Amino acid sequence: MSGSSLVSGFYKLSPEERLGFVKEFAGLSDEECALIGNTGSLSMDLADRMIENVVGAIPLPLGIATNFLINKRDYLIPMAIEEPSVVAAASYAGKMTREGGGFYTSSMPPVMIGQIQAVEVKDPYTARMRVIQAKEEILKKANDQDPVLVSVGGGAKDIDAKVIYTIQGPMLIAELHVDCRDAMGANAVNTMAEAVTPMIERITGGHVYLRIISNLATKRLARAWCLVPKDVVGGEEVVDGIINAYAFAAADPYRAATHNKGILNGIIAVILATCNDHRAIEAGAHAYAARNGRYTTLSTWERNEDGDLVGSIELPMAVGMIGGAVRTHPIAKIALKILGVETANEFAEVLSAVGLAQNLGALRALADEGIQRGHMSLHARNIAVAAGATGRLIDLVAERMVEERKIRMDKAKELIKQYKDSGKT
Ligand code: NAD
Repeated sequence: MSGSSLVSGFYKLSPEERLGFVKEFAGLSDEECALIGNTGSLSMDLADRMIENVVGAIPLPLGIATNFLINKRDYLIPMAIEEPSVVAAASYAGKMTREGGGFYTSSMPPVMIGQIQAVEVKDPYTARMRVIQAKEEILKKANDQDPVLVSVGGGAKDIDAKVIYTIQGPMLIAELHVDCRDAMGANAVNTMAEAVTPMIERITGGHVYLRIISNLATKRLARAWCLVPKDVVGGEEVVDGIINAYAFAAADPYRAATHNKGILNGIIAVILATCNDHRAIEAGAHAYAARNGRYTTLSTWERNEDGDLVGSIELPMAVGMIGGAVRTHPIAKIALKILGVETANEFAEVLSAVGLAQNLGALRALADEGIQRGHMSLHARNIAVAAGATGRLIDLVAERMVEERKIRMDKAKELIKQYKDSGKT
């Protein structure tokens, strides 16, 4: 490393010029620069328009989870993820749920909440009444900002207000409820919230600071449930194991965090494949999991009267089929085509089914053979590659490490040397 990271006008340089600067700063080789600068199907020009200070792109594997039957329709699920075993587990879970009829889903209309924070309001409770009373005027102003959204049946539909107590004293928070149709909606909602700000200041007599969307999208929940016959999941003992694993997570936030991470493994992989906003989904999911004051699970697992396993999930799902980078990124467009969803609501429901499937896959592995075996055999391949194995050697080294239950870099290097010395590669 050399030089200062304080650069003026870095953003004005071309991506190649920026990479030249980084090359010098970080001591990158020509080969490393060529790898970063190879943006693949996303042209450098497009990448440079999507975010700031672009120097290249980072490709992720794109896998397809198979076997998904949702509301009696077949889906292939595109997943972009760096973690091994997620796609395989989703496909396996999809297959198990098929035996019980697949997934059934529902969702709320795609309504997002835009918050407008008014401070120094003298009479916050009466101001709240005045804001609610001015609903028509406020909604009109908001909807004037987005005639396109209104023309497709969306737009601001309601206004609510609440008084909260903070270390800075009471605040009046006005909340715009905006139907975002097939968009995720952050830009649309933020624009509307900004536009009604002078109105909120006039009505409340206060001063407005923040006007921004909330990612705790409780008015945009997606739900899915599935039934897995006990014999398909591995028998009564495995059903017991899964329900006990769920009970543990439901009662303990330390376990719930990992339980929900497993759910998000599936959801976020699809969100990445379609270039949606994964931060919004993750923030919404975790906040929803803590909505009652204690962090808990987003899914539930129980036994029905026949002893079969039944799972359900409910979480906020602010996803778009339009807007943001969804229609800009060439691969995201193809991923949506593979999914074959027609509305953001259908997309949200498919995502909730994928989350539940991923959860089932993980819980079954945990309850049955323990997750490490399946996970580590895939992980072993990554370790083998990182240790320098190529071609056939990757599988040979990975298999030996799994057999010997020593999936470590030093072991991989030792095996590579052994194979090379023996001339078996
Ligand atoms: P956008 O503004 O690019 O597109 C939405 C617009 O598309 C609508 O406002 C509407 O005018 C138009 N449209 C055309 N046909 C439509 C249809 N059928 N349904 C809905 N809208 C239609 O995007 P957006 O969805 O408003 O914002 C998403 C972006 O905002 C994402 O890139 C996200 O990362 C970013 N963002 C997120 C946050 C956050 O806190 N989550 C905050 C700021 C920005």
